[in-house]
Amino acid sequence: MSGVVILAEARPEIDWDSLTFSFTQTDRMYVAKCDIGEEWSPGSMRDFDDLRISPAAGVINYGQGLFEGMKAQRAADGSVVLFRPEHNARRAQQGAKRLGMPPVPEEMFLDAVKQTVRENLRWVPPMGKGALYIRPLLMGSGPILGVAPAPEYTFLVFVSPVGPYFKGGITPTSLRVSDEFHRAAPGGSGGVKAIGNYAPGMIPSKMAKKEGYSEIIYLDAANHKYIEEVGAANFFCVKEGRISTPELTGTILPGITRSSIIELARSRGYEVKEEKVEVGYAMDADECFCVGTAAVVSSIGKIQHGDKVVEYCGGEVGSVTMQLYEELTAIQQRRAPDEFGWTVSV
Ligand SMILES: *Cc1c(COP(=O)(O)O)cnc(C)c1O
Repeated sequence: MSGVVILAEARPEIDWDSLTFSFTQTDRMYVAKCDIGEEWSPGSMRDFDDLRISPAAGVINYGQGLFEGMKAQRAADGSVVLFRPEHNARRAQQGAKRLGMPPVPEEMFLDAVKQTVRENLRWVPPMGKGALYIRPLLMGSGPILGVAPAPEYTFLVFVSPVGPYFKGGITPTSLRVSDEFHRAAPGGSGGVKAIGNYAPGMIPSKMAKKEGYSEIIYLDAANHKYIEEVGAANFFCVKEGRISTPELTGTILPGITRSSIIELARSRGYEVKEEKVEVGYAMDADECFCVGTAAVVSSIGKIQHGDKVVEYCGGEVGSVTMQLYEELTAIQQRRAPDEFGWTVSV
């Protein structure tokens, strides 16, 4: 087949119904580089490809890197929209400071994300069939042998289409509280999307899945008493109409879905408290759910801790959970008025 040029428009159709939550390679990616002590200058788009990187790169040897996770979605008006992307940009800047990396300017971050979505537009699923997951990465790409910030940094953005998180609609999941593992310690990097925070959660999560649970609930490392997070999602519970979520103490990742749910729930007249949430209080609640970019809102049907198991709402999705899920996804897809100005067209 030599000499055949395949135009972007002529490439094979994508089977949207077979999309899962796994990686699908797309067409283009954004790459920028910056030497330590210098300012970032805008990067460029190129075909998606493997990276060339020194075996002595800071990110490979010492985990000097962070990521972001966002979605572009096909909205009801036909446009392609991002959800509060400036918050991802700012969170990445905070994380960069914690990990000794040069923060990417907000405008540059947003431009990079928009360009990458635009040059992969054919991968944005139709409304309701999923989303284009966006993965910005910032890492120490220069070589260094001592444990210190790398001499050079790479910021890149790639995307992958993903299917709907819940294929058959929102269904309650079973979780188990871990008495064996913690996710983050006070003074550590739990509040940052540091790449090194995620590998230690893989085995605990796999162990839970083997026993029939979908994820682990982590308690705080200092007291082993208060709920922190559910795998890589933020936790909420509802008791007598009052909504609680663990307060941000530095060990919890400040989720953008979390802050959106807090704001949305308050605007709908709910009392929402950011506070210490004792595991016993949550086990006694009326409804529990967890939130994050991937699933938006995920209903919790059951929690196991020690020899205790509780089931919420008879295994059905709770009414507050359902209301917040429906209202937030409607805003994200512009099926409802964007009363908070949260969506941004690409
Ligand atoms: C990304 C992430 C979340 C969710 O954050 P969103 O901004 O809502 O996607 C929650 N917890 C952890 C540990 C995370 O990495």
